Amino acid sequence: MSGMATDPEDEKSSSVDAQINVQNAINYWTSVDSSVNGMLGGFPQVSRIDLQSSSTFLSKLKRRLKGNEDGKSVALLPLALECGAGIGRVTTGMLLGHCQTVDVVEPVKKFTDQLQTDAAQSTKPGRVGRIFNQGLEDFHPEAGRAYNIIWHQWCLGQLSDRDLVAYFVRCQAVLAQEGWIVVKENLSTNADGSDDFDEVDSSVTRSEQKWSKLFQEAGLRLVTNEKQRGFPKELLPVCTWALRPSSW
Ligand code: SAH
Repeated sequence: MSGMATDPEDEKSSSVDAQINVQNAINYWTSVDSSVNGMLGGFPQVSRIDLQSSSTFLSKLKRRLKGNEDGKSVALLPLALECGAGIGRVTTGMLLGHCQTVDVVEPVKKFTDQLQTDAAQSTKPGRVGRIFNQGLEDFHPEAGRAYNIIWHQWCLGQLSDRDLVAYFVRCQAVLAQEGWIVVKENLSTNADGSDDFDEVDSSVTRSEQKWSKLFQEAGLRLVTNEKQRGFPKELLPVCTWALRPSSW
């Protein structure tokens, strides 16, 4: 590509995600306890408010469905997918209250074993469907499955920018009519808008601008987004985005 100007921001960002090492990431997560504390890196106390906000966010999305303006007609969405689900904090804590069936993708099997134990004790109306023990970079959703919601939280930093865009493209092929892809992730706060590398779990923390750029590259458009409120000040800002294919 000689003669093409390089965007310095691109170069810098790509060097950040080039540091991701999948084996280091899996080694870290395998060493972590199958608990909410393990999932949240020592901040288990934020789980409750996090799940409350997510549940409200999803309720508001459901109210946008045709014929559901009163928020009551669609009690349960037929099918959801939670990706990078860990022990299923979000699945058991929230999605099983909104969806009939929740499929799960999570590379670390001991986490999904815990998820199944917890889900079996859940009093929420939904149930867990299929479980795929894979990283999202390798995950190819089953053709013919139609997800009303595909939820991601605190796991997409494990993927390089390129793998993430390719993954988002695959997701759109299994989105049900009127479905959403939801992303809830930390934002980096560097003044120059750069991403950060986290050596602990070999992941990147992206800037808000980088997220927008990757959504666009993947052919996704923003439906609505929201900043998390009420978290301790020492935590990074968290944003939740609901997205749909731009072609819709
Ligand atoms: N989303 C859950 C878990 C967050 S912890 C929650 O909010 O509670 C991050 C999770 O990402 C861990 O379960 C870890 O095993 C998983 N993970 C690590 N690498 C991944 C990858 N390449 N693809 C998908 N998930 C990954």
